[in-house]
Amino acid sequence: MLRIVSLSSSTGFLCVAAAVLSCGQIYGQDYRTGIVWQEPKVITPGATAADPPSDAIVLFNGKDLANWENGENWTVKDGVIYAGRRPITTKEKFGDCQLHIEWSAPEEVKGDGQGRGNSGIFLMGIYEIQVLDSYDNPTYFDGQAGAIYKQTPPMVNAMRKPGEWNTYDILWTAPRFNEDGSLRSPAYITAIHNGAVILNHFELLGDTPFNRPPQYTKHEEVGPISLQDHGNPVRFRNIWARPMVAPIGEQVREPFIRNGDKETPINQ
Ligand code: MG
Repeated sequence: MLRIVSLSSSTGFLCVAAAVLSCGQIYGQDYRTGIVWQEPKVITPGATAADPPSDAIVLFNGKDLANWENGENWTVKDGVIYAGRRPITTKEKFGDCQLHIEWSAPEEVKGDGQGRGNSGIFLMGIYEIQVLDSYDNPTYFDGQAGAIYKQTPPMVNAMRKPGEWNTYDILWTAPRFNEDGSLRSPAYITAIHNGAVILNHFELLGDTPFNRPPQYTKHEEVGPISLQDHGNPVRFRNIWARPMVAPIGEQVREPFIRNGDKETPINQ
């Protein structure tokens, strides 16, 4: 018999014990979900969390705007994108996805409020998370950097100085629509700005125009990512995205407790 109490009760010990014996052998019984899971795909992570994992779609790698529509009206110089005329839009379309993007407000500070370092990232081409020079630049809070425009401010202002690089890491859950056009489930966004969470599973109320309330209008299950032209030479670099697919499992039987050879359904 294994005498846990005579040894350490640390989780470290339990892990070692579990590696030798199953939990059921240690504790007498164990819980089985009845779900058969598919093995999660093995990927190779990037060298740092800012580098694309092996399954990422690289949208800008420092060279050109071949993966974007209207790229001819923006500029690539020294490995970075400078905002130009009209938005650029990815040729690739995404539903639920993870997006990494780095951006910098112009080093030369011009204008104020919404007129200073303004751009934006439009998920599915419709829903804007604000890009703005919000370093010591007052404006309405639900329009500052990291806001879902006119819906919510970010939780904190994690802005770096003009000319320095900011990162957004975004988790996007696309809205779902019914056949008749009604909303089945809203969009959600989680965003991290320079390592600080600014939006935590925020439920969007709809799209993000400046001149009317948000609303949902049925659209495709996938859509492009757009970068806004707001007349300011905001810079972008290192842009990649990964479609997010939930783990796949099949409930092949009811959950049960196994104790030796005995199986007891949970719900009886
Ligand atoms: Mg904007």
